[in-house]
Amino acid sequence: MVTTHNLGFPRVGARRELKFAQEAFWKGQISEQELQATGADLRRKHWHLQQRLDRVPVGDFSFYDQVLDMSATLGNLPERAAESGGTELERYFRVARGRSGQETACCGVQAGEMTKWFDTNYHYIVPEFSRDTRFSLNANRLIGEIAEARAQGQTPKPVIIGPVTYLWLGKSKDGSNRLDLLHTLLPLYSELLERLADQGIDWVQVDEPALVTDLDADWRHAYSLAYHQLKTAKPKLLLTTYFGELRDNLQLACELPVAGLHLDAVSTPQEVARVVDWLPPHKQLSLGVINGRNIWRTNLEHTLDWLEPIHDKLGDRLWLAPSCSLLHVPVDLASEQKLDPEIRNWLAFAVQKLEELATLATALNQGRAAVSEALKASASAALSRKTSSRVCNPDVRSRTEGITRSLGQRQSPYTQRIVAQQKRLGLPRFPTTTIGSFPQTRDIRQTRLQFRRGELSEADYTARIREEIRRCVTEQEALGLDVLVHGEAERNDMVEYFGEQLDGYTFSQFGWVQSYGSRCVKPPILFGDISRPRAMTVDWIRYAQSLTDKPLKGMLTGPVTILNWSFVRDDQPRQESCRQLALAIRDEVLDLEAAGVGIIQIDEAALREGLPLRTSDWKDYLDWAIEAFRVAANGVRDETQIHTHMCYSEFNDIIEAIARMDADVITIETSRSDMELLDAFQDFQYPNDIGPGVYDIHSPNIPDSEQVRLLMKKAAERIPAERLWVNPDCGLKTRQWEEVIPALQQMVAAARTLRETT
Ligand code: GLN
Ligand code: ZN
Repeated sequence: MVTTHNLGFPRVGARRELKFAQEAFWKGQISEQELQATGADLRRKHWHLQQRLDRVPVGDFSFYDQVLDMSATLGNLPERAAESGGTELERYFRVARGRSGQETACCGVQAGEMTKWFDTNYHYIVPEFSRDTRFSLNANRLIGEIAEARAQGQTPKPVIIGPVTYLWLGKSKDGSNRLDLLHTLLPLYSELLERLADQGIDWVQVDEPALVTDLDADWRHAYSLAYHQLKTAKPKLLLTTYFGELRDNLQLACELPVAGLHLDAVSTPQEVARVVDWLPPHKQLSLGVINGRNIWRTNLEHTLDWLEPIHDKLGDRLWLAPSCSLLHVPVDLASEQKLDPEIRNWLAFAVQKLEELATLATALNQGRAAVSEALKASASAALSRKTSSRVCNPDVRSRTEGITRSLGQRQSPYTQRIVAQQKRLGLPRFPTTTIGSFPQTRDIRQTRLQFRRGELSEADYTARIREEIRRCVTEQEALGLDVLVHGEAERNDMVEYFGEQLDGYTFSQFGWVQSYGSRCVKPPILFGDISRPRAMTVDWIRYAQSLTDKPLKGMLTGPVTILNWSFVRDDQPRQESCRQLALAIRDEVLDLEAAGVGIIQIDEAALREGLPLRTSDWKDYLDWAIEAFRVAANGVRDETQIHTHMCYSEFNDIIEAIARMDADVITIETSRSDMELLDAFQDFQYPNDIGPGVYDIHSPNIPDSEQVRLLMKKAAERIPAERLWVNPDCGLKTRQWEEVIPALQQMVAAARTLRETT
């Protein structure tokens, strides 16, 4: 018999119950007991939804983050969190969220750093290490949850992060080598496995996704060392990898002395064949055959065609699971009442994915006839998707086929363009601007909501948003900013706003996915060829421009960012969807230009996020991503100025690609890095204009103009002054006008001083 299991279930709840409980607890509205009760309730519900599996994951639930949980289990929460006491959970949240010194009488606690979980849009809390790190085991959470699952009649399979990946995910705070900690860490893992064995646990899922990344000899050696030492543990270990190909780590992964190996068969079907041949006969092979990161229904017959021969070879040694934890998909399609039925029939969320898994297992165990209805339904959904006229749009296809390199080419080089732009725009040196959004007040959100609900007519809605735009322009003029923006009041989200207006996109009502902590996102679903039925932003921008003599910057989201923050198609390469998006944005850019807009900003906030896990794959990604941006942006005349914006803390390794975008101006987030981020631009001799963020908009402190001036001085040591812009970091929409105005006053004052003194 084939064994079915799951690597992890979305913890946030079908109605984001966890989010609301977390936030209520943080505000002091509910007690810790109440929060714990919500957690237990969600676990119970989620195991119930997984009850058809042979083994359910335990330990995948988290009150904030599974990596932080592992740090807690290993006694590796930073000491600063313990200093001001509190319960275990309070200390845990303190590491997750920090605590500002202002909120409490006492000292602040710095939050743990957060970073992306591999190439997903989930963010984890980075474990902190130093030479002196000492671990101590706290297995209570895991053991308690095992008991809960058992009480429900489930067969628990605890999920832990393996020792090597745990170290790999972390950061050394004192420059010491975190691999040196392996020998003190391993006894803890042995002890943990011992404790689990005491609970009667026979299999433990040990997540080691670092195996799909580039590892040097030391890290590979750490794998051998670690698993040879854990070999004597009583529970059997399922070494679990996901998110990519093992490539040069394949042999290592196969040879580690563990009882089972899980492979992400969705991203690496070709490696599976090799592993099936290679794997020692005493090992189990778990295949992740259902995509745990996307929302498409599986073509079950296709999967079976591929799986049956493997099953014939492996027999009972074959396990089946989703490719990775289902953390990255929404809970249940059954909640979706508004999706178009045709498109809905192509989708599967976590609950549906587990049904698919059960169907596959039954087909293998009892023959396809036992599940013929389910197979038929899956095949007909696949056929409907393949042949639907809503997916394939021949006009779009022929347009993308017609893309040539020249489409992404500006008329003249930057040095010539900038002269034409300066002539047209007449900006002072150190021009001041913002990144696009202004405070999203309660009123604004209310207005959008009422319109959405049909409580506000289109005319009233337009009038109200125009009022907001007017206010925003008036404020910016009073501040004396040089390049104004309309403020983005009409936008709920920088991707959703465009997705909603493009053909080829659809939206779920409850398709929430955890991004970090209590924060969830609802990625738009890109299902078909993309086209733009009509202009998306022109009316708003034109209106804003009509209110001022100052240049107004039109604001768009770039194709790469729209792609990277969506659920994407699995029936064509990402880059093909990106090219389609590029043409749609290009049309918008040209419409804005034709409407007399002299400056257009195309945000690519998520360009870096799309970088593949393996550096050898970066070039390919960057080639098509940058080409898409160029197609979107570079069709304009010389005198039209293109801006782009990116909010990362690292440019060194992609600076060449950034330069290839050839935006006239790039604004970046730098305030927290003390302008050091500009080193990459300086070293590369980045040729175009740069606006380094001069203050951290997230900080409640108002910057003073002297501080800003000094930062700009530092910038000018790296970049010629005539190519510098003055702007804050992005995200003003999250602030209040009362904070934004004084801060920008200081910024504008600093720019004026700079003009006089530099
Ligand atoms: N234009 C957007 C804003 O100012 C950019 C957001 C972002 O970079 N994340 O909010
Ligand atoms: Zn940004």
